[in-house]
Order: sequence, then structure tokens, then C-alpha cells
Amino acid sequence: MSAPPRAQELGMMSCHVCRLVTAYSEDPHAHCPRCHSALHVRKQGSIARSWALLLAAAMFYIPANVFPIMRTQSLSSKDDNTILSGIFELWRAGSPGLAVIVFTASIVVPMLKFIIMTVLLVSVQRSSGLVSKQRARLYRFVELIGYWSMLDVFVVAILSALVHFQILSRVEPLPGVVYFGVVVVLTMLSAMSFDPRLIWDNRKSQ
Ligand SMILES: [Zn+2]
Repeated sequence: MSAPPRAQELGMMSCHVCRLVTAYSEDPHAHCPRCHSALHVRKQGSIARSWALLLAAAMFYIPANVFPIMRTQSLSSKDDNTILSGIFELWRAGSPGLAVIVFTASIVVPMLKFIIMTVLLVSVQRSSGLVSKQRARLYRFVELIGYWSMLDVFVVAILSALVHFQILSRVEPLPGVVYFGVVVVLTMLSAMSFDPRLIWDNRKSQ
């Protein structure tokens, strides 16, 4: 069975913004006749931008793990916790559920995103033998987990709010949280810069 044709093969292209399908144009300055946004067949410099944002995110992930993200303070003691020590602390303090949530949001999700984005970028660049449908599924998965990756920052915010009600102890967020937030934003931008249509451009593998 032959694969369905691409828009380009049919002499058509679509607008990113309003989805209007128009006649294909080689002109790099072409504009959508309906909403006047720039028309391009593929996102410009998608792979380079996606790589740059992903590498920047990986670099910021180091200080996000090295610097403490929160301080728990009571009358007798003051503890600064990094992501990992915070997870152990939560587990030890009898909140295994919360520890699992923080572990998932701050270790598992970012790692999965780094790995999947790398696989997608390398496979598109090398037009690898990975089946397009599976790669498209991976891309949708990255988009899906993107919504959950701010969870960690929320957990620190919620913890601070909860503990503030008790007079003798308090939890406050520390600069590590900022680095973590930067990682989350950069990985999201990296996934957004990636043009999933590139996955289908090399369909020899199907
Ligand atoms: Zn348009």
C-alpha cells in the first residue's frame, strides 16, 4: 500500500496559525492570505533551535540538582535540601506519596524528556530506521508529560503554604527552584521548536 501523499507533493502548504491550506510557494517571505502570518513548509532552523534549548536545559539541570531547593526550619534545626535530599527527607518524615510525586516530577520526567528529545533529534538528523509512527508517539508523549513537569515547583509552593500554618516550623523555597523552573521552560521550548513533520519527511523506514 502506498503512503498518503504529503501536502508539498500535492502543491499545497498550510498556515501554522489559522490552518488555511494554500498553494505551495517557494517564496521564503510568503504570507498567509487570511491571517498574514509567515508561511513556511517546515519550522525554520527547527533542529538547531531544539538542540540548543535541550542542551541549555541539560546544563541548567546540574545547578538545579546541586543547589538546595528548599529550607525546612524549626526551633531546633535548619535544613537546606537539594531535590534528592528533599526526596529522602520526605520519605523519612513519613510522606512516601509526596516523595514519589517529587521524584517523578523532578527526576523521572526531565530525564525522560532529555532522552526522548535526543532520540527524536538524532533520528531525524540521521533519518534512522526507527518507524515514524513510533517516533510520532514519542513526540506526543513528550508533549503530554510537558504539562506535568511544573509539578515540582508546585509541590515546594504547597509545602511552604502548608507549613506556614504551623508556627514553630517553616519551609521556604531556595534558588535551586529557579534553576529547576528554567529547566522546565527550556525543555518545553525545545519540544515546541521541534517540527514533528520532520519525522514524516523520511519515510523510507515504513
Ligand atoms: Zn493563516
